[in-house]
Amino acid sequence: MSAPTSSATLPTPPAHGHVRVLIVGSGFSGIAMAIHLRRAGIEDVVILERAASLGGTWRDNAYPGCACDVESVLYSLSFAPNPDWSRTFSPQPDIRAYLERVAREHDVVRLIRFNENVTGAHFDERSTRWTISGSSGDWTADALVLANGALSDPRIPTLPGLQDFAGPKFHTAQWDHRVALAGQRVAVIGTGASAIQVIPAIQPLVSQLTVFQRTPSWVMPRWDRANSARRRALYRRFPLTQKALRLLQYVRHEALFVPFRHPWARRFAEAVIGLHLRYQVRDPSLRAALTPHYAIGCKRLLLSDDYYPAMTQPNVSLVTAAITRIVPNGVVTADGRTHDADVLVLATGFRVTDWLLAPVIRGRGGRTLADAWQGSPKAYMGTTVTGFPNLFTLMGPNTALGHSSVLMMMETQIRHVLQLLALTARRGARVAEPTAEAQKQFVRWMDENLATTVWNRGGCSSWYLDRTGRNSTLWPFGVGRFRRTVSRVRVGDYLFSG
Ligand code: NAP
Repeated sequence: MSAPTSSATLPTPPAHGHVRVLIVGSGFSGIAMAIHLRRAGIEDVVILERAASLGGTWRDNAYPGCACDVESVLYSLSFAPNPDWSRTFSPQPDIRAYLERVAREHDVVRLIRFNENVTGAHFDERSTRWTISGSSGDWTADALVLANGALSDPRIPTLPGLQDFAGPKFHTAQWDHRVALAGQRVAVIGTGASAIQVIPAIQPLVSQLTVFQRTPSWVMPRWDRANSARRRALYRRFPLTQKALRLLQYVRHEALFVPFRHPWARRFAEAVIGLHLRYQVRDPSLRAALTPHYAIGCKRLLLSDDYYPAMTQPNVSLVTAAITRIVPNGVVTADGRTHDADVLVLATGFRVTDWLLAPVIRGRGGRTLADAWQGSPKAYMGTTVTGFPNLFTLMGPNTALGHSSVLMMMETQIRHVLQLLALTARRGARVAEPTAEAQKQFVRWMDENLATTVWNRGGCSSWYLDRTGRNSTLWPFGVGRFRRTVSRVRVGDYLFSG
């Protein structure tokens, strides 16, 4: 682990009052933001967290089999390498423990107000400050950082009769660990990233597993391995070896991006990854049902060594008929069949493009983010929004990736935020916001570069596209391009005032 930030004796911020920076959320983004602020000498910070502990998506997603599908060495904060990762792709408890340890070692846990749900925020043009309402009262802040994440609000499908199901039912992000699955008939709705991790984890326990698939996923091998004690000792003793591996993984993931942009490489990738399915699933009708009919990458490309083998087990059945309704004892499909189940698992994803705080964040003139966005989130460099001075959106619009670690994107955004705060102070101003023209040009650049990609044109519907049909989620290039573009603030693109 890295050297902790110096001075561990700082005061706890007040329960309410004024702070220089207020951060919403204590997942990877919120914690990393607070640490980087401390390192830049900004200690007057508070983090509002709606739950009782930190960790964001890695706290909430505790379903069996949950793990990161990016190698842990790459899915680590740049300043906090961890020689003790248990596996190549570490499981959720390790990732959560890692983030908690980093937060503790850098002394930012005391900045967090737990059980504090943000209910709204508005920018006061006279004082050039944000007022933020939490469940226990108000704060004011010079800058407001939204670090509340994209994968935090479960999407519960609107299936008729869902509330009538007689047994336990829960979303993967709200797993009910009190429910014993051994010997139960379990229905799983969805075959995305969460489902393909849950299915092999619970298949050996349950008596019957019925998987409801609307769209099959492209699944490539993960080649996950335990990290031996010797390997961990090597990383501890010679940190450069782990650094070199991180660099290698970074380059390999950047290469993975090629098939997403170039059809010739895509066809090659489809052929190679198709072999994985062919090798692991011998039954032609099951294989046909699991074969995607859209270009690879259009939906998130998934990694698993054990999903297909689990699907071939005798206690597993794959249902591809559409779900028409839920009844107390199971799931009814369009072919009129009722599939009995004792437990219902909703692996149905998240409300990624909805931005739940957008209707309650008010910028200049009382305009909300929802008003400004009209269903399609837009931000300059994914990080700042015109008309919303000193508001920062970590993991904001067009900053997600389909091929590498989003932590690198988020840390680049943090560099942008720190530079902008320093620049604002140096110019004797109090707030900064992107010019309308700069934001417009940036958004146009995103749209132009996404227009011909597999994410927009690959023949699938995905959560990358918002309700207006625009891709407001993904960054259209590699991580390196994001770093080069976003980590340096272009002064002319900002308005400084106050
Ligand atoms: P997801 O990728 O959005 O998958 C949701 C699944 O539910 C899809 O198969 C979808 O089918 C299905 N579905 C939704 N509503 C349905 C309905 N009414 N009837 C039938 N099926 C329905 O969600 P997720 O698997 O939770 O993953 C979300 C994101 O979380 C991932 O893309 C990834 O970024 C992240 N994640 C990451 C990891 C990791 O290892 N890092 C692990 C888990 C999740 P359609 O495809 O037809 O819509």
